[in-house]
Amino acid sequence: MAEEQQAAPVRKLGRALILLGPPGAGKGTQAREVARIYGVPHLSTGDMFREHVAQATELGRRAKPIMESGQLVPDEIVLGMVEERVARPDCAAGCVFDGFPRTLAQAERLETILGALPALASRTQAVNLAVDAEEVVRRIASRRTCRNCGAIYSAAGKMPKVAGKCDVCGGEVIQRPDDREEVVRQRLAAYERQTRPLIEFYRRRGQLVELDGSKDIATVQRELLAALERPR
Ligand code: ADP
Ligand code: ADP
Ligand code: ZN
Repeated sequence: MAEEQQAAPVRKLGRALILLGPPGAGKGTQAREVARIYGVPHLSTGDMFREHVAQATELGRRAKPIMESGQLVPDEIVLGMVEERVARPDCAAGCVFDGFPRTLAQAERLETILGALPALASRTQAVNLAVDAEEVVRRIASRRTCRNCGAIYSAAGKMPKVAGKCDVCGGEVIQRPDDREEVVRQRLAAYERQTRPLIEFYRRRGQLVELDGSKDIATVQRELLAALERPR
């Protein structure tokens, strides 16, 4: 019997998607899936910095002690790295930002950068994953991360099939050094002071979608995809 051939729906992101939310809100988890589904790059500044640190580049040497203390890396370092990345042709059909922007200066500069890219100009959408502080502390304590590819696991949820070994790449699955409790407090403070104001920044521009990030991973994903498919 001939199988009913149904073409997979071709979804086009066609915009710069920004995931906002405190550390541990689920930005990386959702960003990876959205990027996979739409076939666009996932731009995690945290992953980029961790790669620089692992390769001991000059940038990595500057970022490492700052990340370990739970502070934000200076804007000019972040922006140089992002600007170079966004200019590459694979971002022309859209991209998913995860952990960027994190300060008002970064958000303002991103507007200028995107404004110069014809396919993405005035097509920015920010999605805030709202999760309360108690829950993010719990999630961060359970988070495990692949040292090699950045895949995200949870001791309270999905762990690798083979203990300590990443399902995606076989890399070593560890607890991030900055996921220790003392550092987490600093990171949450940095979020409150420097990043939370971005919610208002994007709301004022009519570019904000607000989601309840405290629901389970599959539910948040469904609501996120539904928001992206709504006509703007
Ligand atoms: P962020 O990128 O915002 O810091 P992650 O995506 O790394 O957050 O998620 C933090 C931790 O919480 C990970 O261990 C992840 O598996 C887990 N997690 C992500 N989303 C949810 C969710 N909706 N419910 C429960 N745990 C989640
Ligand atoms: P999380 O989502 O758990 O907060 P990330 O992987 O996004 O963690 O970031 C880890 C660290 O990398 C941050 O605490 C900060 O030191 C640095 N970092 C990542 N992105 C930025 C950014 N956009 N601006 C400044 N520092 C950043
Ligand atoms: Zn991996």
